[in-house]
Amino acid sequence: MDLADRWDGYSAFDYLDPEDYRTFDLAGKHAGEPYEVPLDGAEEDRAERLARESTVVSLHEHAFRFPADVEETPEYVREGRTHTAYEHLAESPLDAVFDMHLDGLSGIHTKEGWKFEEMVHDVGMRGCDLAHSEFAFQAGSVEDIREAAEGDRLALVPAIESSMPIENELDRIEVLYGVGVRSMGITYIESNALGTGGGDDFGSDGGLTRFGAAAVERMNDVGMAVSVSHASEQTTLDACEVSDAPVLDTHTRPRMADEDRGASDETLQAVADTGGVVGIVASSTIPDVETYMEHFEYVRDLVGIDHVAFGPDVLYGDHRGLLQWLGAKYGLDIPEGIGGRRYVKGLENPTEAWHNIPRWLVKEGYTDDEIAKLLGGNVLRVLDEVW
Ligand SMILES: [Zn+2]
Repeated sequence: MDLADRWDGYSAFDYLDPEDYRTFDLAGKHAGEPYEVPLDGAEEDRAERLARESTVVSLHEHAFRFPADVEETPEYVREGRTHTAYEHLAESPLDAVFDMHLDGLSGIHTKEGWKFEEMVHDVGMRGCDLAHSEFAFQAGSVEDIREAAEGDRLALVPAIESSMPIENELDRIEVLYGVGVRSMGITYIESNALGTGGGDDFGSDGGLTRFGAAAVERMNDVGMAVSVSHASEQTTLDACEVSDAPVLDTHTRPRMADEDRGASDETLQAVADTGGVVGIVASSTIPDVETYMEHFEYVRDLVGIDHVAFGPDVLYGDHRGLLQWLGAKYGLDIPEGIGGRRYVKGLENPTEAWHNIPRWLVKEGYTDDEIAKLLGGNVLRVLDEVW
């Protein structure tokens, strides 16, 4: 069957009348020019076969549609109804997605977001919508992901990027698990009670706090994956040391020669040494799929092919505009675009990214076994241990 036929026709919040809630004009699948990694006929067949046969898991996406006018994003998120992109996701070979909730913008009851009740609201509301879809469902186990792969469905795994919402309450980790969260970042860009965030670069990296270590232990006990994306260098190293379970870096990029940004070799190695996996991020800050794959191959050479996966972190909407908005908030400099584009060529959105990742691996002559590991096998191995 065609991938697109997986979709059952259900769109977000179809169970309500649109007049029951505030609607926004939402972005379509593409804002830019679609791009396909070029293959010959035999390669095409092989890429298609491998994408279908493998269990395909993204470690990081925003699996919903953004407002057409990206400046409406905070208001859209504050309404508490982000619209899962069911139809577009069905066209991708994805079987499971770590679905990152836009926690920092949640602001449903507060001005700055990241609050516990807002996370519960956001995850619960998305869960209600998912429960009305035949195609996608909220997933909480490896078994769920395998069932999704077998049944041509989509497993959406709720994930949040910072532990800010737990404040100083360890038990909230269990509550968040209870509503469905299966992966949580230690910090986002800013620091919190668990440790120093990656954006707090005044030269004093305090690493993980005592409370942060207790939180990592509780996440281990509960079976929630610990992610070190966006955490500071020392927080990452400390979390990897404290965690009994393999650690994820759901979406990161390596620090290439002559660059002063990206994860250091030492932190990437620390994640791999826990038995964990590093997901390669594209976001919208690199020019194209070729650069993305250079980053992937750098990490593969460093930590080995068993410890790499993909967490492109792309979306349906103007990602560059969103980053510029966040950049202004967090004091980061986000340029207007790269090469005149406001998106990553070949990885504009999750549908295009997951169409092109297997194609690129086939083009470069990776074996069937390697491709199956990279598309999801490595992640499933880790989740088998963590969850
Ligand atoms: Zn992120």
